[in-house]
Amino acid sequence: MNITLKYMMKALKWKLLKLCKLLYQLLYTHIIIILFTLLCLGFGIALAGTYYLTINLVDSQAMQYAKVAVKTLNEARILYSKNVVDRIKSMDGIMAIPEYHAVKGGIPNPATYNIELGERLSDKSEGMLFRLYSDYPFPNRQLTGGPQDKFEWDALTYLKEHPEASFYRKEQFGDRLSFRYTETVLMEPSCVACHNTLRSSPKKDWKVGQVRGIVEITQPVDNVMLIAEDGLKVISTVLMTIIALAISGLILVIGRFRIINQELEQKVLERTATLNRLAAIDELTQLVNRRQFNILIQQEWRRMQRQQRPLSLILCDVDHFKKYNDTYGHLAGDNCLRAVAQVLDSSVNRCGEFAARYGGEEFAIVLPGVNCSEATRVANIIIDGIHSLKIPHKTSLNSSYVTLSMGIATTIPNDQSFPEQLIKSADLGLYQAKEEGRDRFIIWNE
Ligand code: GH3
Ligand code: MG
Ligand code: MG
Repeated sequence: MNITLKYMMKALKWKLLKLCKLLYQLLYTHIIIILFTLLCLGFGIALAGTYYLTINLVDSQAMQYAKVAVKTLNEARILYSKNVVDRIKSMDGIMAIPEYHAVKGGIPNPATYNIELGERLSDKSEGMLFRLYSDYPFPNRQLTGGPQDKFEWDALTYLKEHPEASFYRKEQFGDRLSFRYTETVLMEPSCVACHNTLRSSPKKDWKVGQVRGIVEITQPVDNVMLIAEDGLKVISTVLMTIIALAISGLILVIGRFRIINQELEQKVLERTATLNRLAAIDELTQLVNRRQFNILIQQEWRRMQRQQRPLSLILCDVDHFKKYNDTYGHLAGDNCLRAVAQVLDSSVNRCGEFAARYGGEEFAIVLPGVNCSEATRVANIIIDGIHSLKIPHKTSLNSSYVTLSMGIATTIPNDQSFPEQLIKSADLGLYQAKEEGRDRFIIWNE
């Protein structure tokens, strides 16, 4: 169980790492697309947020206005009821009734006063509607006193159940988008008596607190919405410009970074190649250096061991080179070494063969797949090549020109033998060549 859990955790960790790597690669290779998407997303969110805020502002402004208007209408009714109707109730011949126009001494009852005030306000304010309606309109208002459309019915139904609440919504009213707001008008003690006794009253069992009617304020908001939409257009244009500028800037910067990165990568590759070359090549002679010789001879050793073919090594040493330096100077000595190196280098041309600077004025020729007699042929070519250089060496004890001594060793590598043994044999051959008078080669057979 524990092992399974451990295995699952390991697999999960591995998957997460893979996902992170994938995301990183995606981010690196598609950075512009990702930034563009993020900026567009930000643009969308900012625009949606601004739109939402604007709509909210329009709605809350309309609501605020509607509440004030309702309060004003209600206060006007209450004031009229208390300060006018209540005071003249006791006067003979004066009646507060809905159909006051037709009756001598008639004055409008508070609701009629309120309705007419609303009608006057509606006539004078363009597009706005101030209405008072009820499901029990007086007979003289049968046509307009009740709910006139779905909103008014919805408001009446809702507010009868929730008399303390308000009911509103934004909707198309006529040909304009309007904010419609309603509150209840509750039956007050001062009204109950009148309403229950008036002859024309359509309901005579009113109780205090019952919903007598609905006061509605309808105000068009399409103009404000148009202004808000214009504002949104300006904001979106500004945002789009900013995003376009930001993206252009980013593309430029990222493009520049990519070019710099490519240049750096190229430089690193070049420097690495140079360093690798410097680490493997001798600066003076441009031959393989000792370090690289050690690596390559191991490789060729293993290759010849696999193929069971001979590997020959020729170790070369410039004769009386100290004297040469002493006679002609160190700089001339360097030139001499370069010339000798060229001869050695041109003597090897088959695959795997190479000439190396073994150290100082000593060189090594590695000949994979070459037997002793072929190595001897190469050594003869080298001797001839050095002779044909005809580099004067007046202090040499064996010639008047620069000469070379060589030791040759050949072996077929096996499990028990090592390259060091081959080197040692060639060195012994070289030593022998020196002993026997220089300017020659000796084949050393173990
Ligand atoms: P032998 O014939 O016995 O080899 O005598 P030799 O004088 O060549 O041998 P020795 O080892 O006494 O001297 C080698 C000289 O090679 C000594 C050193 O100054 C010189 N030498 C080694 N490396 C360089 C080099 O890079 N440039 C120059 N100019 N001389 C070098
Ligand atoms: Mg030497
Ligand atoms: Mg020497």
